[in-house]
Amino acid sequence: MRLVLIGPPGVGKGTQAVILGKRLGIPHISTGDLFRDHVTRRTPLGREAGHYLDTGELVPDHITVGMVHERLAEPDALRGFMLDGFPRTVPQARDLTGVLERTGARLDAVVEFTAPEEILVDRLLKRGRPDDTEDVIRHRQQVYRHETAPLLDHYAGILLTVEATGPVDDIAARALKELERIE
Ligand code: ADP
Repeated sequence: MRLVLIGPPGVGKGTQAVILGKRLGIPHISTGDLFRDHVTRRTPLGREAGHYLDTGELVPDHITVGMVHERLAEPDALRGFMLDGFPRTVPQARDLTGVLERTGARLDAVVEFTAPEEILVDRLLKRGRPDDTEDVIRHRQQVYRHETAPLLDHYAGILLTVEATGPVDDIAARALKELERIE
């Protein structure tokens, strides 16, 4: 199964991706985690991307897209994957469609997680990652509304929406129930 998870920062996509990836037996590919790993290892890509992560800006496409292409070409991702954090813009979505088309593949579904903004900001302040200061959080929310939310229309035909409030396991159960509809 080839899935994309979409949702505003703090909605718990990463947590859900880990649970759902295990349940569905597909690798969880998080662009945020890939970038943070490069930053920690001080790779050239990490040095280029670090500044964007710190400020909550999107990393430019020429960096992001290459990293995602490489990851998707790894053997474990050939039969299916759960993308978390990519695509984040309509151009990135077009790029993904193009890459998949080369092997005759396509996305099965896009899962959107939703929650009220006050809950999101609160959760992120508690998480305390280096890019979780209030200004950067607010900026990331704004980037989400401007750049990423248009993807919901772009993917309207294959979109599944899951309310991401309440216990983590309940949210996962709701997502799995939605996904049964496409199996
Ligand atoms: P969150 O889910 O809290 O937004 P992520 O871990 O998904 O956090 O992303 C953290 C940062 O990584 C983003 O603020 C951005 O700088 C960068 N990033 C992640 N995915 C992308 C992408 N697809 N395009 C550009 N930048 C990205």
